Amino acid sequence: MRFADKVVVVTGASRGIGKEIARAFAAEGAKVACVATTENGANATASEIGNGAKGYACDVSDSAAVDSMIESVVADLGTPAVLVNNAGITKDTLILRMKDEDFDRVINVNLKGAFNCIRAVAKPMMKARYGRIVNLSSVIGLHGGAGQANYAASKAGVVGLTLSVAKELGSRNITCNAIAPGFIETDMTEDLPAEFREHVEKTAPAGRLGTAADIAPAVLFFSSEESAYVTGQTLTVDGGLFL
Ligand code: NAP
Repeated sequence: MRFADKVVVVTGASRGIGKEIARAFAAEGAKVACVATTENGANATASEIGNGAKGYACDVSDSAAVDSMIESVVADLGTPAVLVNNAGITKDTLILRMKDEDFDRVINVNLKGAFNCIRAVAKPMMKARYGRIVNLSSVIGLHGGAGQANYAASKAGVVGLTLSVAKELGSRNITCNAIAPGFIETDMTEDLPAEFREHVEKTAPAGRLGTAADIAPAVLFFSSEESAYVTGQTLTVDGGLFL
């Protein structure tokens, strides 16, 4: 019960990796604020995981909506000890076909969304002189991906954001780290071509794609007391695919 009575905000908690992260926190005693674009999605996870969890509908790319969502979390549950910036989208296509709006939307959700949430929790966390921030990057942000210029740029940006937040807020006992997952079985990867899946299964030493349950324990480590002396790091969790 490493998170007994701690308030944890998880964005993108309605599905996939975020839902599993929210479940893992609640299982260790946290009161989880489950954030998703719709009330139904956010509330469904909150009622499933229990332990005082509450759902919040919020588009993380909208800074005013994020500020008011964090204000509500503080009023309803208390000051967040942990923020997990997990909300993310893809709009993959080749550069020559990529529309301005495809580029902008992915940057606005994946990168600016993380920034919006960090800025909103920074004040209460600084006041509490405690905080753990964990950002979801991607192996694509570290290595690039054909057809993913927008996504790769957003996830590389998340690494730079993580480093800067670690430097700026470290003296207030706030750490900031990132996880770079490989290919994980969720809605985001359900359309991967069969040949690509086979390639991952053959190439990764782990011999398979990852699951959300492979990612959550790494997020919980960076969110715990045990990682007090670890900050600004990006941990790849990809079954060895990019070794
Ligand atoms: P997913 O199954 O597609 O779920 C995405 C989640 O993000 C959903 O809960 C969705 O909420 C939420 N979301 C999307 N846009 C949002 C917005 N504007 N505001 C608030 N919430 C929003 O994705 P996933 O595979 O679990 O990925 C989770 C994170 O891990 C993402 O940041 C992704 O880039 C990263 N990642 C995933 C993989 C992978 O292989 N799956 C690999 C590397 C990194 P709604 O249900 O309301 O739409």
